[in-house]
Amino acid sequence: MPQKEILIIGAGASGLMAAIWAAKGGAHVTVLEGNDKPGRKLLASGNGKCNLTNLTQNPSCYRGTDPQFLWEIVRQFNADRTIAFFTGLGLYPKNRDGWIYPCTEQAETVLKLLLLEAEHLGVRMKTREFVLAVRQTDQGFITQTNTWNYSSDAVIVACGSPASAVRGSSDTALKIAEQTGQPYLPFMPALVPLHVRGNYAQKWAGIRVQGAVTLIIDGCEIMREEGNVQLGDYGISGIPVFQISRFAVRAARENQKPVQVILDLVPHLDEQELLNRMEMQARTNPWKTVRQLFTGLLPEPLIPVFISKKAKIEEAVKGIKAIPLTVTDAASGRYAQVSSGGIATSGLDDHLQSKIVPGLYFTGEAVDADGACGGYNLQWAWSSGYVAGSSAAAGSAP
Ligand SMILES: Cc1cc2nc3c(=O)[nH]c(=O)nc-3n(C[C@H](O)[C@H](O)[C@H](O)COP(=O)(O)OP(=O)(O)OC[C@H]3O[C@@H](n4cnc5c(N)ncnc54)[C@H](O)[C@@H]3O)c2cc1C
Repeated sequence: MPQKEILIIGAGASGLMAAIWAAKGGAHVTVLEGNDKPGRKLLASGNGKCNLTNLTQNPSCYRGTDPQFLWEIVRQFNADRTIAFFTGLGLYPKNRDGWIYPCTEQAETVLKLLLLEAEHLGVRMKTREFVLAVRQTDQGFITQTNTWNYSSDAVIVACGSPASAVRGSSDTALKIAEQTGQPYLPFMPALVPLHVRGNYAQKWAGIRVQGAVTLIIDGCEIMREEGNVQLGDYGISGIPVFQISRFAVRAARENQKPVQVILDLVPHLDEQELLNRMEMQARTNPWKTVRQLFTGLLPEPLIPVFISKKAKIEEAVKGIKAIPLTVTDAASGRYAQVSSGGIATSGLDDHLQSKIVPGLYFTGEAVDADGACGGYNLQWAWSSGYVAGSSAAAGSAP
């Protein structure tokens, strides 16, 4: 039987994974990368440390129109298999409260190990090849780049999303979807700072608090996240804000729903506990103003912003436990770590192969899939790359 020719668009996390598993499956693999070198976004991941997966795994970590579809893909190559795979390549994993990193804390380690393995398996890597179009022919596929036309039996679209300012981030996946009639949802920023309306912005810019954010869409409470919240002149940021952002952005932009965030500046105490504590403070320090009672609990510049001079203790407590913020939009995609949206999973089979154009596969962020913060986006890249790469190789050559 002739060796199957598989072409992969994009040498990022999911493209390299797909290349390795397609080559392991016996295919002849070529990867086309638009940048001068592979894996630029992988190098930027986890602040350069690369949080490559997470020991806590459940379906709610993976978001999209059909989270169950995504979860079934992740289950085929789960966090345990991911760790075993990288350990097999020579990586020593480091566990930080369940968040897994290479022990070197350098994303470069992860990229280098993937490239070594791909090279060892005979994967052909061609950089500075920016894909413009993919066309199905009687013999398979023609992929057109800025310099050449490549023919192959199957194509794996692993060219990510436009999120972030990392060079090479593109919406090529959606262009290919249009060329091939594949259904898709527009990309929108996810894991991104949120813009909020209000006159706080200038007064709180630059302050970080251990807070909680509760997302309210159309009057309904959707989710609450706690952690380090960064306050800026544009609005709010930090991991808890990132975690709620994809739902906020899609509700506001796609469905034009009113979106609100309730910010709690003292999440470790409930309202009654905080009130009791402040009343006790007032009894032992009767000479202090209400604002002064909060020194020691809140960052000093926030006190005059959220507690009026004449406020009673109860009012002040209510004020800082539930600050209503109206979300106007998100920061631009340049400031997003990932995108929501992409190739609709309704148009893919459970090998991530197109139901419309057999032999055409999609992986990683190109798919309508985005993970929570904590290693889930790379886990999705590994799982989807594995599924598409091994399935594409398993299909027989024409
Ligand atoms: C700053 C930052 C930090 C992050 N940190 C983490 C983290 O710690 N943990 C985590 O799980 N996730 C993290 N992510 C998200 C994670 O890096 C991505 O979800 C993941 O890399 C996506 O993999 P992918 O294969 O879909 O796309 P990518 O890794 O983006 O790869 C796509 C590749 O395709 C190439 N390409 C694009 N268009 C074309 C074209 N037309 N022709 C040829 N090549 C093309 C690109 O140059 C790129 O190399 C982070 C993201 C950012 C931006």
